[in-house]
Amino acid sequence: MNADDLPSLRDELEVHDLWAKKSLGQHFLLDMNITRRIARATGNIAGKAAIEVGPGPGGLTRALLEVGADPLIVIEKDARFLPLLEPLVDWSGGRLRIYNEDALKAEEAALLGDERVLVVSNLPYNVGAPLLIKWLKAGPWRGDMVLMFQKEVAQRIVAKPGQDAYGRLAVLAQARCDARLEFIVPARAFTPPPKVASAIVQLTDRADPYPHLDALERVTAAAFGQRRKMLRSALRALTPDTEALITRAGLAPTARAEEIDQSGFRALADAWRAQNAT
Ligand code: SAM
Repeated sequence: MNADDLPSLRDELEVHDLWAKKSLGQHFLLDMNITRRIARATGNIAGKAAIEVGPGPGGLTRALLEVGADPLIVIEKDARFLPLLEPLVDWSGGRLRIYNEDALKAEEAALLGDERVLVVSNLPYNVGAPLLIKWLKAGPWRGDMVLMFQKEVAQRIVAKPGQDAYGRLAVLAQARCDARLEFIVPARAFTPPPKVASAIVQLTDRADPYPHLDALERVTAAAFGQRRKMLRSALRALTPDTEALITRAGLAPTARAEEIDQSGFRALADAWRAQNAT
């Protein structure tokens, strides 16, 4: 099957008199060369289940169906796009399932059962990071992820200790996944163009995921809340006895959050959990 046989995305938007809503972070990819490149970044998904959040007019949806996603579950909050998506159900031989829902509230496991699925999305900018955190914490249904973010957010996800972009998002994402920036998509590739460039990030489950993401959220919020301060002062938001906590984690009280790596933050979260259990 070839999406070039379908009416063009631009024509579809015009025929249905649709325009982008800023409040829903709508910036569309109407060039199939780009959506096909994103679909290829998912690896071989022929016959595998995938979930796409925010299909909008369906450019990425078409590309994912072309490469054989089965089933492809799409969750779109804006009902105006349903008439553009519905014809793709027949076109794909019934592989597409459409849900008109808010992805922040959606219970994916209820839609999917226990099947492990790939998550792929050109994310709405305003809810990109909250959706990522939701999926990092998700149950066994959540497989690898291929996600588009604003370039600056993508850099924060893949950042390493010592880099300016290193912070909470990097520690939380990398606690569960190996994160890699795949490619940059310039602002002009979108309709309408956003103010900044975007980037595709590939997140694959790591062999040793850290299980206590809530604890990690607490310690990273405190540590990076005052990122230039030494841990012994920065962590006061968490506990009055910061030295005991830091020593228990095997870290130096004079270290700063931006220098602490994944294993250091895991140790800190473990120490915080242990301190709160006693
Ligand atoms: N995938 C399309 C593309 O690449 O052209 C559209 C991407 S656009 C950046 C983001 C899409 O997410 C829009 O269609 C928007 O309506 C949808 N959206 C925004 N917030 C959402 C939410 N909370 N739940 C589900 N979809 C949402």
